[in-house]
Amino acid sequence: MSENFSIPMPSKNPLLPKNPSGTAFHFINGAFTASSDSRTFDSVNPANGEVLCNVALGGAVEIDLAVAAADRAWREGPWSKTTATERAVMLRKIGDELLARKQEFAELESLDSGKPLSETLNADIPRAAFNFHFYADLCNHQMSPSYRSDDGSHHTTIREPLGVVGLITPWNLPLYLATWKLAPALAQGNSVVLKPAELTPLTAYALGEIMIKVGMPPGVVNIVQGFGPSSAGEALVKHPDVKAISFTGETSTGSAIMAAGAPSLKKMSFELGGKGASIIFADGDIERAAKIATRAAMRNQGQVCLAGSRLLVEESVSARVIEIVKAEIAKIKMGSPLDAETTLGALCGVEHRNKVKGYVDFAKTIPGVKVEAGGDIPEHMPKAGAWFEPTLLTNVPQDSRLIQEEIFGPVLTVQTFKTFDEAINMVNGTKYGLSCSVWTKDIDKANDAANKIRTGLVWINCWFIRNLHTAFGGMKQSGVGREGGQTSLDFFSEMKTVCVANSRHERHGMVWI
Ligand code: NAD
Repeated sequence: MSENFSIPMPSKNPLLPKNPSGTAFHFINGAFTASSDSRTFDSVNPANGEVLCNVALGGAVEIDLAVAAADRAWREGPWSKTTATERAVMLRKIGDELLARKQEFAELESLDSGKPLSETLNADIPRAAFNFHFYADLCNHQMSPSYRSDDGSHHTTIREPLGVVGLITPWNLPLYLATWKLAPALAQGNSVVLKPAELTPLTAYALGEIMIKVGMPPGVVNIVQGFGPSSAGEALVKHPDVKAISFTGETSTGSAIMAAGAPSLKKMSFELGGKGASIIFADGDIERAAKIATRAAMRNQGQVCLAGSRLLVEESVSARVIEIVKAEIAKIKMGSPLDAETTLGALCGVEHRNKVKGYVDFAKTIPGVKVEAGGDIPEHMPKAGAWFEPTLLTNVPQDSRLIQEEIFGPVLTVQTFKTFDEAINMVNGTKYGLSCSVWTKDIDKANDAANKIRTGLVWINCWFIRNLHTAFGGMKQSGVGREGGQTSLDFFSEMKTVCVANSRHERHGMVWI
């Protein structure tokens, strides 16, 4: 790890607000807009605690304005009345524009979130662009099932936009996840109100500039900044004219949103917390498995819903696996998020870092638990920043909070097992069910594991590999519904059945419903 990390960290990104007050405004009805009461909050660089800019603080008033603009755009068009081909052209332009400004967006995301540029430049921003390109291709290739009845009548199902949809997104993959919802919602012809996470508002703010540049009609994309409870998030969920909410965030927030949306009977989709595991069997490729399991725990400082934050190792190979993991952790380069060499940046904020530290402090009180690496706030990083050492904890009991709760930091716990069933019981023994990696060369064992593990995603001999056509989501308290490919297009649309009767229908005398 680098010993002499020093600031400065340039904050003059061209995408930062250029208006006289330097405020990241809302984007409502095609224009950057201050809050009605001019209130703002700070966007802080978590690497050094410096304020990057202030951000308009929205609430019910701004949500009302944004929903009204979206509703008008939806009723009057032109977006809601465009063909899929026309929408695909626009989505492609948005993706192209993001790629053209990839460096600026990546730097802004790194400044705002603390994640290393190597990730934002190579994953977050290209993937955000690809979300638009992917749905540009897919929206024109949707299948509609149709049936012909015995009486000759034809029954076709068609998909129509919902109207105004609300998107609420977290801070861990800010633009990546906002666009993962925005692209399919737009592809189906909806109008959108996006409420980005308050800790990482800036790339969503900059998206407004892209919408203007590509000529997106006013009111189709609205971005309201603010907090969740008693703020913009809650107002969006409760708004009667919002037809659906697509939410990604914590499990407890999902539960609150489900309750708040119930009176208006909204369609809802939830992508929630996870407690992913890597299971390494003795017959697996130990070297590769241990290296990727370390990455699975540490990528984005462990702030990934799909993080493999638990390592379950067959006892006979556990010493070797722990040795490799420790060596991999020692190679991690903690440093400025804007330094191309950095592999571990800052956590998203000091409050969250303190929560992570609290878990590790608690681990130190459990008899038998050993801190094999890290375990504290690093001495050599800026004190006002949200830093934490990559940490390895071994011999962690299954019933401890360290296994049962989402830590969401660079903390990898290790448990050992003797039998296949023991491993499966351990992996399934939390309230979460999002993802799991299985490392074995035995194809039968891999298949058995895939069948028995209760997670929405099972990776065999890999981690974090996705094809965007496939369904993504969690079982148990990790989510309700699925996103990805056609699944997202289905969520962001209503299905309508059209029956074209045949005149012989009457003569058949059949009146079936
Ligand atoms: P969070 O639940 O605190 O906040 C997410 C969003 O919800 C933010 O925009 C916030 O302002 C808003 N919000 C909070 N309370 C609200 C309320 N009562 N009504 C309406 N909106 C509200 O989550 P976070 O801390 O930003 O993100 C981390 C969490 O997200 C972790 O649990 C992680 O596992 C989860 N996550 C899940 C996935 C997935 O696909 N399953 C992906 C990424 C992150």
